[in-house]
Amino acid sequence: MAAPKKCLAKTSAGKRCKRNATTNGACEIPKHQAQVSPAEDRTKTDDSGLTVGQRQAVEIIAAAAPKATHTNLAKVCGVRRRATISEWLANSVFAEAVLRRRRELSRADYGEVIKGLTVGAKLGDVPAIRTWLEHHGLLKQQLEHSGPDGGPVETSTIDLSKLSSNTLRKVRDELAK
Ligand SMILES: [Zn+2]
Repeated sequence: MAAPKKCLAKTSAGKRCKRNATTNGACEIPKHQAQVSPAEDRTKTDDSGLTVGQRQAVEIIAAAAPKATHTNLAKVCGVRRRATISEWLANSVFAEAVLRRRRELSRADYGEVIKGLTVGAKLGDVPAIRTWLEHHGLLKQQLEHSGPDGGPVETSTIDLSKLSSNTLRKVRDELAK
């Protein structure tokens, strides 16, 4: 049996990498993959119309800080020219894939925030309970007319007696989830 092929990339010390190659003639280290076969060279497009390199870049760019520069994005995506990132983002298929992925990621973050709030509300943390009630549209509808003499609603505490039994039931059911 032939010996496994070695990674074609060079380490940061300038030596040839000694790891076995997995895909594209490189080992599994992303930097080595980018060195041996930069993202813009992996040109086979899949059903979505994006190349393997672009698919990986969609993941990286969607998760990157919104202010990340094209220079930095090129670096982390394993792209040699910064202009490639601009060209990809000008491609509507690529740009839409980034947007879609970004929305998915922010929905996941949002779900985590609500989960955290629910835990806080269960523990009796008043700001968490208030935010949680607002999120579920239960606080405003119940308390907006309850300010003294038609004045602004007092929001520093929650008077649960002001909530209808229907709302309290909803709260109990939501918190039991
Ligand atoms: Zn390597």
